[in-house]
Amino acid sequence: MHENEAKSWLPRIGNGFDVHRLVTGRPLILCGVAIPFERGLEGHSDADVGIHALCDAIFGALAEGDIGRHFPPSEARWKDADSAAFLRFAAERIAARGGRLSNADVTLICERPRIAPHVPAMRARLAGLLGVAEDAVSVKATTSERLGFTGREEGIAALASALVLLPLAP
Ligand code: MG
Repeated sequence: MHENEAKSWLPRIGNGFDVHRLVTGRPLILCGVAIPFERGLEGHSDADVGIHALCDAIFGALAEGDIGRHFPPSEARWKDADSAAFLRFAAERIAARGGRLSNADVTLICERPRIAPHVPAMRARLAGLLGVAEDAVSVKATTSERLGFTGREEGIAALASALVLLPLAP
């Protein structure tokens, strides 16, 4: 697929949202990066809330269901699974449709840990898994001003948007 190829693209947007609970005795993996912290996220897989939200954004753009449909938590083989595999699969679904990811944007919502120092590593990791330039992937974070479950540090939430370009039928 080349930039100068005469092809019309249909832009397709998707969004994703995910939450996981913070517990002791688990590593904290966010956007594919291990973060030093005293607690980690609970879940059937590695509970990478950022990747899960991003996968759902891509599946949403493709109108191909959600992460739970492709990787049911009821299946033992996804226990403690590396969520990187879920994101690679989402990228493969874009390719299978003849499309490409224009850009993606992930927002992590937590009081702690501080996300900013890890953003470059997260962007590089997500871009690598998706097979796109780092410039196409944004990761940012916000707190919820100590309000609600994220404010009480009971869990971490993530939002994601993805813009996928699909080929228009000739
Ligand atoms: Mg999840």
